[in-house]
Amino acid sequence: MKALVKTALGEGNLEVLDRDEPQINEDQVKIEVKYAGICGSDLHTFEGHYKVAAPVILGHEFAGQVVEVGDNVKEFKVGDRVTSETTFEICGTCRYCKEKKYNLCPTRKGLGTQQDGAFTKYIIARKESVHLLPEKVTYLDASITEAAACAYHGVDKAKIEKDDIVLVLGPGPIGLLVAQVVKAKGGKVVMTGLTKDAKRLDEAKALGIDYTIDVQTENPKDIISKLTNGYGADVCFDCTGAVPSMQMGMELLRKQGQYVQVGIFAKDEILVDFSKIIQKELVVTGSRSQNTHDWEPTLDLMNSGAIQASAMITHKMKIDEWDKAYQLIKSGEAIKIALQPLD
Ligand SMILES: [Zn+2]
Ligand SMILES: [Zn+2]
Repeated sequence: MKALVKTALGEGNLEVLDRDEPQINEDQVKIEVKYAGICGSDLHTFEGHYKVAAPVILGHEFAGQVVEVGDNVKEFKVGDRVTSETTFEICGTCRYCKEKKYNLCPTRKGLGTQQDGAFTKYIIARKESVHLLPEKVTYLDASITEAAACAYHGVDKAKIEKDDIVLVLGPGPIGLLVAQVVKAKGGKVVMTGLTKDAKRLDEAKALGIDYTIDVQTENPKDIISKLTNGYGADVCFDCTGAVPSMQMGMELLRKQGQYVQVGIFAKDEILVDFSKIIQKELVVTGSRSQNTHDWEPTLDLMNSGAIQASAMITHKMKIDEWDKAYQLIKSGEAIKIALQPLD
């Protein structure tokens, strides 16, 4: 089978190669990939500043059809429409594993990073990671499930009351997904972006996001102040990983507001105004990836239409069109691209 393989660490080193079809053990499921989404982290891997266990087939957001199940697998059968968590191997004994918080297990191995992923025809998943697709969720929609589960995980870090004013910084795929989950939880979303994000902010409006702000031409402080009687926003999700954005978010929060960092910063050490955290009694949390508990509620939101996956998938391409896909995402023209395997 043809596979898009990161052949070595460093910049580039991504090639379509011939690979043997993977073999399952008695606890695994073999899935024929229909669509696999390109994640921001795949771009980082391509550019060389995100480490994977190269050589490895990339692709960790996907949906497909079950073509074979192991002897111990009773939960799924050939023909089932499924998606899978990225968790492939865990220690199973640490305190996080016991709570199924696999995103925090120190020895976890994930699909598409440490284990062969979905930018190919067949992929192997552990049965515990596989989820059936609800009736109204198509294969194409479901290729976004992992990203949506990451967004759900982030939103779940904060307590959102009905009509809370919730800032979502950054209109990338994760920001747009976070905004939809916040709406589903009853919050009113104010999404910010830069002038170059105009197209994505329009998409946010089309998705029903309440307010959008171009921070380069409008004054977010005035707008938030007007919406909150001068108090400030109740909750803020930073989905940019940009330092000025984080600083603006903390500035715009009200006293005792909740701040969640979802976007990943380009470097580890950054300047944070701790006085603001103390003086305003802010609650600051980070959100990493997703875990088992996020998947079923996420699929429910996709099935009900609260998360509109199809509106976010702007392009479909084959795995050998990687270069074009990369350019489209980098230029901001594409929001989410779904790749299809080659025959
Ligand atoms: Zn991802
Ligand atoms: Zn563990």
